[in-house]
Amino acid sequence: MKILFYSAREYDVETFNESNKIAQNDIKYVEEKLNNNTVHLAQGYSAICVFVNDCLDREVIDGLAEKDVGLIALRCAGFNNVDIERCKQKAIKVVRVPEYSPYAVAEHALCLMLSLNRKINKSYNRVRDGNFSLQGLLGFDFHGKTIGIIGTGKIGSVLAKIVVAMGMRVVAYDPFTNLECINLGVEYVSIDELYELSDVISLHCPLNDHTKYLINQKAIDKMKDGVMLINTSRGAVVDTCALIDGLKSKKIGYLGMDVYEQEANLFFMDKSCEIIDDDVFERLLTFPNVLITAHQGFFTEQALMNIADTTLQSVEAFENKQLLRYEVK
Ligand code: NAD
Repeated sequence: MKILFYSAREYDVETFNESNKIAQNDIKYVEEKLNNNTVHLAQGYSAICVFVNDCLDREVIDGLAEKDVGLIALRCAGFNNVDIERCKQKAIKVVRVPEYSPYAVAEHALCLMLSLNRKINKSYNRVRDGNFSLQGLLGFDFHGKTIGIIGTGKIGSVLAKIVVAMGMRVVAYDPFTNLECINLGVEYVSIDELYELSDVISLHCPLNDHTKYLINQKAIDKMKDGVMLINTSRGAVVDTCALIDGLKSKKIGYLGMDVYEQEANLFFMDKSCEIIDDDVFERLLTFPNVLITAHQGFFTEQALMNIADTTLQSVEAFENKQLLRYEVK
């Protein structure tokens, strides 16, 4: 099958080529992000493969339909960037990779927690600079602290398992309870109780109309003073300006982010020689208690290989007109 692969990076090409050795699909990789200016590139392709920051709004979907693209294969779990309704109207199928490695993202959330607490970014630089002072590096034991997990699906439940083993009390909020979590001793509470009880809050819900700006000024006001907030879900689950206010007032004591609402203009690109004109992002970088990674939670060898294998299995099923196991409906 002819597949156009948008937003391609070297690591995508390597893993997809490896996974494609048997099926031998005709894949063309382009670095461009999909948007209204680049949709014309899809001419002549039956399927496109896209990632988290490609734009698949109504206009782009219409453009894809005009070019007879029949399948959109998301090589990620989230699908908040796709106008699913429009895809249905235009009879374009959408598939995603819902479970490539919950461990990758949960472990990254833990990594942000541990690094923020023990100020690893600071101590790394200090030691390299011959500065062996411990002043300002004081951390705390996670053991005995309470973590609030918002969204106890695949990633949230893996994080719950890890932090239970660290001796943390785990409270959670999710419209659906997860039996595995209950068996672990996770206590499901209301969202307000979670805000009140938690020393650490980690977000693992999808971005949708209900969760957009879930973490806003009102929510932050209900949290403990000095709370640690970790976001590896999607940028717009939090109101970034409210976070900045929370950091300035010291309500938020630590902030770890792997995702950012306006990340499409920044992440996955080398901008080190450019002027970054996003003042909100730049303000975040001025806080010593903020740690930002550029959407790398998913980025492990195992996850990349699973993403490629699952995506190409979906392409094969589409080509053979079989049931699409991971179709987004
Ligand atoms: P999942 O579908 O297994 O779990 C999501 C959970 O969130 C479900 O249990 C669902 O009931 C719950 N939920 C839905 N609405 C909620 C709400 N309003 N409040 C609280 N909980 C709610 O998904 P997952 O695989 O665990 O992934 C979670 C999210 O992580 C994805 O949607 C994606 O946005 C993000 N993600 C990020 C990366 C990364 O690299 N940083 C990688 C993969 C996924």
